[in-house]
Amino acid sequence: MAYIEPAPIKDKDNPFESMMSRFNIAAQHLGLDDEIYNVLKSPTKQVIVNLPITMDDGSIRVFEGYRVIHSNILGPSKGGIRYDMEVNLDEVKALAAWMTWKCAVVDIPYGGAKGGIKCNPREMSPGEIERLTRSFTQSMHEIFGPDKDIPAPDMGTGPREMAWLMDHYSRAQGMTVNAVVTGKPIVLGGSLGRTEATGRGVMISAMAAMEKMKINPFKATCAVQGFGNVGSWAATLLSERGVKIVAISDHTGAFYNPHGINIEEANAYRMQNGGTLEGYKGAEKIDAEELLTLEVDVLVPAAVEDVITKNNVDKIKARLIVEGANGPTSAKADDIINEKGIMAVPDILANAGGVTVSYFEWVQNRLGYKWTSERVNRRSDRIMKTAFDKVYATAQEYGTSLRIAAYIVAIDKVAQTYKFRGGF
Ligand code: NAD
Repeated sequence: MAYIEPAPIKDKDNPFESMMSRFNIAAQHLGLDDEIYNVLKSPTKQVIVNLPITMDDGSIRVFEGYRVIHSNILGPSKGGIRYDMEVNLDEVKALAAWMTWKCAVVDIPYGGAKGGIKCNPREMSPGEIERLTRSFTQSMHEIFGPDKDIPAPDMGTGPREMAWLMDHYSRAQGMTVNAVVTGKPIVLGGSLGRTEATGRGVMISAMAAMEKMKINPFKATCAVQGFGNVGSWAATLLSERGVKIVAISDHTGAFYNPHGINIEEANAYRMQNGGTLEGYKGAEKIDAEELLTLEVDVLVPAAVEDVITKNNVDKIKARLIVEGANGPTSAKADDIINEKGIMAVPDILANAGGVTVSYFEWVQNRLGYKWTSERVNRRSDRIMKTAFDKVYATAQEYGTSLRIAAYIVAIDKVAQTYKFRGGF
């Protein structure tokens, strides 16, 4: 029987290719020589481990775990750990490179890494997840370290898993090493301001972009896709600055109110409703896809990747897109966004507030000191605004979109560091 190629399920870019297509354009603008190009595109280290775990029913299952260090030339590598059935090496490689560029854009002294375990945490007991997390930490003992590689939470993991990781690493070292991981519970050395940090950075980026575009925030309307950590904080902080949030959504549906949604009320509803907006009455329920194409000034995709694609980009009416999520715009949609004159603040800049405050957590752990939330916010706002201004100026200088400019800023910094350090 002849082999029939299965039809693609959706217009989803391969994440590594999607990252590389932007990287290639930026590299051309910089006139990067082939040697450095080859160094930058190849991850420094890729580790795959098999973790046998005793399940609650007494059976033993083997889980595959990954850690990719894309670069550690600027400092210890930094990046989250994802627990998800879709985790694979290609994805982890792309996300690790993304972290290198993100840290370089906001000018913090970190390289990029990412990790993951192919598992479904929703089908596992807390005990099984704890054994898996401890086993992963054990097998990564030579990789992780406060001066080497510093994990953080990502999809499917949170402060609980980071606490287990910190504890297990510390036991093996014979002392408490809280700087080995960020995103910890506050009592274990987590930073104030970390929860809202990514949404706050999205707000700072959006405000800076509106200023450049001469959009008055008090007259601006905004739609936010995703009402989890990033989306809800971005919506809250933007509405506090006068922006009218007319649409919000989560995986249960999208809600629209042209007069503005009361974000405080929507947040309270979500808290009492098991974390979702399902059944929310403060706005009219609309089609989930429609949220992206509403007549608004600002669109904040803050849910999942690949939501703005060549299939819907023509219908987008927002003048400004601020990417709270990682990779919400497919590479194929980039050109059309530019042709339409939409300003898009890219993920590696707009959502870098999270890694910035993770960096502050590590700094505080190493100082053995705690900063107030005012100090955390003031310093992260400054870093985000400086990074925005640098990317904006680079876009003007090279005549590119903000996305390509962000890659230019990041690649240039990492390439220069390699050149100065040499030693090949
Ligand atoms: P989260 O799990 O707290 O929230 C995700 C939200 O998106 C939820 O409200 C969920 O219901 C909603 N959602 C899922 N699928 C959807 C869909 N198809 N349509 C509309 N809504 C949908 O996650 P988060 O931490 O807010 O992360 C959101 C995005 O931001 C991810 O891409 C993540 O990688 C990125 N990000 C997060 C951080 C951080 O600090 N949390 C930092 C950088 C980037």
